[in-house]
Amino acid sequence: MTNKPNILLLYTGGTIGMIKDYKTNALKAFDFSQIIDKIPELQQLNCNIKSISFDEPIDSSNMNAKYYSDIVNIIENNYKKFDGFVVLTGSDTMSYTSSAISFMLENLQKPIIFTGSQLPIGDLRTDAKENLITSIEVASAKKNGVSVITEVCLYFEYKLYRANRTTKISSEQFEAFTSMNFPPLAESGVHLKFDDHLIEKSKNKDNKLIVRKKLVDEVVILKLFPGISRQVVESILNIPGLKGVVLETYGAGNAPNSGVFISLLKNAIDKGIKIINVTQCKSGNVIMGHYDTSLMLRDIGVINGRDITTESAIAKLMYLLDKKLSINDFKKYFEKSLRGELTDKYHF
Ligand code: ASP
Repeated sequence: MTNKPNILLLYTGGTIGMIKDYKTNALKAFDFSQIIDKIPELQQLNCNIKSISFDEPIDSSNMNAKYYSDIVNIIENNYKKFDGFVVLTGSDTMSYTSSAISFMLENLQKPIIFTGSQLPIGDLRTDAKENLITSIEVASAKKNGVSVITEVCLYFEYKLYRANRTTKISSEQFEAFTSMNFPPLAESGVHLKFDDHLIEKSKNKDNKLIVRKKLVDEVVILKLFPGISRQVVESILNIPGLKGVVLETYGAGNAPNSGVFISLLKNAIDKGIKIINVTQCKSGNVIMGHYDTSLMLRDIGVINGRDITTESAIAKLMYLLDKKLSINDFKKYFEKSLRGELTDKYHF
């Protein structure tokens, strides 16, 4: 045994480990063991790396709650043996997946770093090497023997973000992600610089990791647009078994204030469906009651998503719905930060 940090690399799929099928010209997943062969530089890092892969790696478009719990199971089973985890997934749904994992793991004391790439690892101009190598460095980073990062993060193109604050913004640029409402936790230049005061500190170091594997997937994201019909809203809110809605509203949380629209939402809330108000804007937050067009939403019991991203809101909804909370508790827990996913207080 050495004193070097032990890092577990988990490959679930995605471009980073794909090759081109020259017959069809499409990218497809390949045997993960080749990833290590493709980057001999990994051996130079000051850590011990073990890798594990999904039996059948997936394109992240196929990600779902069952795969979330597979990821969480692997982390739980290896939690004691490793100092940090690097999870490779496709970038397309990485913000959703990493947000969900952040809620599923409570009292986390070790780093979990999600990364991937825009170009396959074998490509000459690939971004995969830097993303992977720096993610491993982040997962290995310790100060006075304690991990610098003790939360779920996403590393891409020289920036380390809190995962549940991120959104994929480009299918083309190497800088594929952003975190509009929260600054990066670290930037990688000549040096890897952590912004200590932004990093989520584990609240109680003696508390054991709590793993929650059950998520409720009877949820929907309803994005408003001018002219959305009553029939569409009504059909969505009447989906049998529906338990939660992330309602993507305009600006600071505004929506049509017509009687018809409001009564459709109110009927849904009266049936026990939780409705979360999230803004379609890329940055800023929901302020219910700021405009007349959000007053009614507040009055009928729509929950305030504040500055949470849609990706994080749907994950938090799926997570909290399993807890069978009273309406008041559900609202209380949704509107406050559980894993740094939203800003608790604003000064207006
Ligand atoms: N389609 C790929 C995926 O999300 C894209 C990527 O890996 O970046 O799995």
